[in-house]
Amino acid sequence: MTDAADRAASSDRPLLYLDIDGTLLLRRPQTDAFQDAYEPDPDALEFLTWATARFECRWLSTRCRNGSADGALRAFRFALGAASLPPDWRAVLGGIPASGWSALKLEGIDLAHPAGWWWVDDAPEEADLRRLAELGLEERLIRLDHGDPHALRRVRERLEGQGRGDGKDHSSPAPQP
Ligand SMILES: [Mg+2]
Repeated sequence: MTDAADRAASSDRPLLYLDIDGTLLLRRPQTDAFQDAYEPDPDALEFLTWATARFECRWLSTRCRNGSADGALRAFRFALGAASLPPDWRAVLGGIPASGWSALKLEGIDLAHPAGWWWVDDAPEEADLRRLAELGLEERLIRLDHGDPHALRRVRERLEGQGRGDGKDHSSPAPQP
């Protein structure tokens, strides 16, 4: 598919809202003076490459609450300890816009997106959880399990079949494990 056709079809793709800290970047067990407090999850690049090919990805993070993706790019650059993002990271991160919000992350979610949406987060706030429950949309949130060293692979398994062009039923979420 051409880039233009891909953009035209963007509303056909489900939105995938991505938290950053604790989801794609993990707190280092120990740091020295020259290291950022975070490092990328070992599966983060593979996950993002997969996700950006199938979903309209959006940052939903305190790092870019103001709606600018700059904070996300900076966070990954620091976590990688790089003066500028390596090309493979830039290729995936550069195409992800940020969704702004103020009190609730849900403010940043397009609840009425025609192709639906998913939200991946390790530690959603209570207020967001309450609002999701009021709307009956709890199953749209995919929470990471910090005890699982391959938590992002589990997220991908849940999302498999929900993206565009996979020929599967998109009407209902994958069952909970
Ligand atoms: Mg988090």
